[in-house]
Amino acid sequence: MAWSWSHSPSAYRDAQLSLQAIAFLASKGSKQSQEKLLTVAAEWFASNTHKHGEHWLDLKRYGKAQRKAYRIATRRQHVHSTFDSGWSELAEIIWSKAEELQTCDNGGWNCWICPYGCHTVPFTPSKFLQYVISHFIVEDYHCDVNEDDDNGYEYDDPDDIDIKAITI
Ligand SMILES: [Zn+2]
Repeated sequence: MAWSWSHSPSAYRDAQLSLQAIAFLASKGSKQSQEKLLTVAAEWFASNTHKHGEHWLDLKRYGKAQRKAYRIATRRQHVHSTFDSGWSELAEIIWSKAEELQTCDNGGWNCWICPYGCHTVPFTPSKFLQYVISHFIVEDYHCDVNEDDDNGYEYDDPDDIDIKAITI
C-alpha cells in the first residue's frame, strides 16, 4: 500500500533537492549514488503502465533502459546547459516522473522516486544530505547540521569529505 502526496511545497522541494544532492555525489564518484540513480532511471525507462495506472517492469526492456540511463548520466553537458552534470540531468528526469506519480510510503515520510516504491528519498533530508544541499546545491538552504555530527563527518571543510566512500 502507498499513499498519495499531501505535503507542503517545501517537502517536495526538499525531496527534489535530496535527489540533486545524490546526483552531486554521483558526479564526484560516489558509487552508491551512481547505482541508485542508474537503477531508478532504468526502472522508469523500462516500466509500462496499466490502464488503471499501476506500473509494471518490462524486463525485456531493462538492459536497454540501463544503457539509456548510463548515456544520460555520463554525457557532457552543453555550456549553456542548466545542469552541472549528466547525473543532475538524470536526477531531474527522475524527479519529473516522481512528480507525476505523486506517491509516498504509508505515513508520508518517504517520497517514491521509482514506480514501485523500492527506491525513495525522505521528505526531510538526512543530516548528511542537508549538509550536501547547503554546501553544494543551494547556498541559502537552511541546514541545522552540527559541525561534528554523529556519523563521524567533520562538516567544517567540504573538501575533507571522502565522497567516494560515503553512504547515502
Ligand atoms: Zn525502485
